[in-house]
Amino acid sequence: MSTTNAEVNSSVEGSTQSPAAVRLENVTKEFKGIVAVDNLTLELAQGEFFALLGPSGCGKTTTLRMVGGFEQPSSGKIFLGGQDITWSPPYRRDVNTVFQSYALFPHLSVYDNVAFGLRRKGKDKVDIKRLVEEHLEILGLGGFGPRPATQLSGGQQQRVALARALVNQPRVLLLDEPMGALDAKIRKTMQVELKRIQREVGITFLYVTHDQDEAMALGDRIAVMHGGRYEDLGAPQRVYDEPATQFVAEFLGACNLLPVTSDHGQLRLPDGAAIGARPGSMVNSPELIAQVGVRPEKMLLQRDTGQSATSTDAMNVVRATITTTIYLGATSEYELTTPWGGHLHILAQNISDADRHGPGDQVIVTWERDHGFALPAAVGPQRVASTEIEEPTQ
Ligand code: ADP
Ligand code: MG
Repeated sequence: MSTTNAEVNSSVEGSTQSPAAVRLENVTKEFKGIVAVDNLTLELAQGEFFALLGPSGCGKTTTLRMVGGFEQPSSGKIFLGGQDITWSPPYRRDVNTVFQSYALFPHLSVYDNVAFGLRRKGKDKVDIKRLVEEHLEILGLGGFGPRPATQLSGGQQQRVALARALVNQPRVLLLDEPMGALDAKIRKTMQVELKRIQREVGITFLYVTHDQDEAMALGDRIAVMHGGRYEDLGAPQRVYDEPATQFVAEFLGACNLLPVTSDHGQLRLPDGAAIGARPGSMVNSPELIAQVGVRPEKMLLQRDTGQSATSTDAMNVVRATITTTIYLGATSEYELTTPWGGHLHILAQNISDADRHGPGDQVIVTWERDHGFALPAAVGPQRVASTEIEEPTQ
């Protein structure tokens, strides 16, 4: 996609003088007719926490394995700190990998697990002691050195695996769903910890996950992969607030998709009402805009008192009927139907009883213009609109 590639290039050229920590150049990987990674070009800046996010089978692990040297690309090149390493064996690359299965040496102590790589490199004993103790401290494992690795909890074993990788001070750390085996509560704690650790050590992280919350919590930038390519790449907030495609919009969270037509540059809903959207990447090609996305938490509900809804330039207005209310304590979720037979999903904070609505209530839905993002038609099977799009009445 030309816009996102331009974004990558300009951000990297603009922010770093030194070569990218990692650069993939038109990398393709085929396994017996299956294209796992499809002409991928990607740059990671030095010291960046980069999240590669996507559903199972989209090519994340294959991408990571090619950077680690465990898999060779079918075509394309891979650079590490400006050096072409496409054909270097894993042990010649200045990278370390942390897997979901911690792969610790069960018969060794925590200290010996962490010291393993340094001993193999023939490091001085005093340096090894200093480095191992420093990294056990960073990972919150001070005092755990003599313990057998297998006597630790899952979360602690994951920390040992991280210490063992970081102690080698690699140029890049590759992490493949490293928290996949941890339960939800420990995951949250580890996310906060991992972000702190990455800042502290300053090493470039390439982090693979299928969990959008994890990618947004951790990544300085996120690439959202789909079918061996990425469909969007940017800072978490930008990718969430202004996703490039419907796939990205829906993968990152719940999303209302309003069908629109472009009438001399003015976007209109099926009932003819004019709506706006934030000026984004599609501003120069309004004829390609087929839908406007709005996140459920960005839509506001108010009782329809029958008076004409006043719209300011900044607001979009839709009259709708509540069909379902789900009370969730802190929030309520509403399902609504629109005059053109469409459905809306709204998430509202429960602040006072007066704000709550029940099935059958007529309501007015509003949202700020900048909370709507323009999208092209979905690629793939065409979604059939529930009603015909009528000519605007005004
Ligand atoms: P992810 O990590 O995003 O789940 P993978 O990179 O593991 O995805 O896989 C991408 C695609 O490549 C999948 O269709 C997978 O079945 C296929 N694939 C991965 N490794 C191999 C392999 N060694 N042989 C054949 N197909 C593979
Ligand atoms: Mg994988």
